[in-house]
Amino acid sequence: MDILKYFTNIMDFFKLPIWRNLIYGIIFIIVILWLAFVYWTYRDARLRNTSAIFWAIIVLVFNFLGLIIYLILRPPEFIEDVVERSLEIRRMETILDSNISKCPTCGKMVKEEFVLCPYCRKKLKKTCIQCEKPLNLDWKVCPYCKTEQ
Ligand SMILES: [Zn+2]
Ligand SMILES: [Zn+2]
Repeated sequence: MDILKYFTNIMDFFKLPIWRNLIYGIIFIIVILWLAFVYWTYRDARLRNTSAIFWAIIVLVFNFLGLIIYLILRPPEFIEDVVERSLEIRRMETILDSNISKCPTCGKMVKEEFVLCPYCRKKLKKTCIQCEKPLNLDWKVCPYCKTEQ
């Protein structure tokens, strides 16, 4: 019987050692992914300044479930972001405090007394015709020497 022979061949096909190897392969990939999840969680938790070891163990034990719990409960920000933000705020405060301002054309930092933007050559100030101090473009009189402009 041809059909019976055909089925026997199919059964033989599934008895090939390739199937067992395939299953081992899949188990291997699952183990690698599992460890990758643990490593990723550990690294992410450390960057967020939260208990990295604790979360790594949670993910090691519960895997996907632990990862989902971690993703829900983890702090929303990286430490570096927080540090960067505070640096940015300090930089802005320095700008407000000191005699540094922004070029209206290119946005680069320029000193208050600059007459030209050194980056884009935009005229920022005029100089007094008498004492040559830097004056705002719309000033009518020099506040240093009282000369009419
Ligand atoms: Zn400029
Ligand atoms: Zn003047």
